[in-house]
Amino acid sequence: MRLTKYFLPVAKEVPAEAKIASHRLMLRAGMIKQASAGIYSWLPLGFRVLKKIETIVEEEQVKAGHIPMLMPTIQPAELWKESGRYEDYGKEMLRIRDRQERDLLYGPTNEEQITDIFRAHISSYKELPKTLFHIQWKFRDEMRPRFGIMRGREFYMKDGYSFDIDKDSAIHSYNRHLVSYLKTYERLGLKAIPMRADTGPIGGDYSHEFLVLAETGESNVFYDRTVAELSLGAEDINYEDPESIQGIVNQFTKYYARTEETHDKKMFEDLNVDLRQAGKGIEVGQIFYFGTKYSKTMNARVNLPDGSKVPVEMGSHGIGVSRLVGAIIEANHDEKGIVWPLSVAPFKIGIVNVKQSDKETSDFCEKLYTAINNMGLEVLYDDREERAGIKFNTMDLIGVPWRITVGPRGVEVGKVELTSRKSSESVEYSLEQVLNRLQSLD
Ligand code: ATP
Ligand code: MG
Repeated sequence: MRLTKYFLPVAKEVPAEAKIASHRLMLRAGMIKQASAGIYSWLPLGFRVLKKIETIVEEEQVKAGHIPMLMPTIQPAELWKESGRYEDYGKEMLRIRDRQERDLLYGPTNEEQITDIFRAHISSYKELPKTLFHIQWKFRDEMRPRFGIMRGREFYMKDGYSFDIDKDSAIHSYNRHLVSYLKTYERLGLKAIPMRADTGPIGGDYSHEFLVLAETGESNVFYDRTVAELSLGAEDINYEDPESIQGIVNQFTKYYARTEETHDKKMFEDLNVDLRQAGKGIEVGQIFYFGTKYSKTMNARVNLPDGSKVPVEMGSHGIGVSRLVGAIIEANHDEKGIVWPLSVAPFKIGIVNVKQSDKETSDFCEKLYTAINNMGLEVLYDDREERAGIKFNTMDLIGVPWRITVGPRGVEVGKVELTSRKSSESVEYSLEQVLNRLQSLD
């Protein structure tokens, strides 16, 4: 992409309404524009990042054996009246009436809708287990939308729903989600800690929230520092082997890690003082096994081999895809701007032409730009008639992980400079060398 042909409305001023780094940087980098309170347009740069995150989230779900689909944003009120949540959900639900006077709503989540699909098509234990998921816009009329897309009213969420015949199988579904979420966050370059979460009136032990540690987080968190040091790494995961999946879950959940709602002061204080950590976190996902809550009220039953019918065991599992954009920025920025992890960077490489008016330099940039495009790597070429300083600032602000600087002096001896956004280290290369180096970026 040539910057002169792109749409990148970067802003110099720090917008006064933005209270946290990710909100400020997303506005300054031209990633989003507010449409109304808590509702945003995703401008091209922001949209690229959102799609990258979505792709990683989806890939990891598919690897775990979960099935992608798409449900609508608008749902009929009847389904929610059946489950009893139409009244319970309160003012957060955006209620709509169509021209036929039918009550509709903009979905804040999809338990009812998926249960309705399930009961229409599945009636035998033989078809279980199944997990269906979609990535779709949600609407919750939050009392205080804030921090940009972090607490929006309209937001993008991956929500998956598991259906199992019994508790053992349901726990394996729960565990698959826990592990696939860990893997997803790692691929996004994030450390997200699974913390025991409140299960509300349903009770039980089976809910975890995933929290990214950040001073600007809205949740108070308490944890054993050991858990913050764990990672899956390149370990092979066999989602079809319940025992090994349970092993990974145990490894990540055996330490104390809780949010305020489930915090147990006594248990926490029993930890060695060196291990005790308290701080703030951003909730980027939650998983929940709730049994037959919806299947009973909405009559989603399956036949057992002996002919009897039982309500199906269910769980729901969400990842805040749009919130993740903000969480990743909170965890990866400096005073100059965003520092994207390579996996979600809108462009992996930036070319800065230090002197656009110089023919040799511009010819060299063209050659480089074409070669990188041909390699299939995403590159942003700053071909504006601007001072070098302004171009460097733009690349730093929008967080391009690798910058290639091309100037008249280097071009004279066939050299360019490759600079890492993260470490600021630069290395000089010839054209051939730099193209080689680009094949193994990290
Ligand atoms: P919160 O406690 O932050 O309000 P929640 O517990 O109500 O979130 P869930 O129903 O668990 O949210 O939704 C799954 C995920 O969707 C959350 O973990 C979060 O990452 C994301 N999410 C929820 N509400 C919002 C919102 N208003 N804006 C952006 N993302 C959100
Ligand atoms: Mg939650």
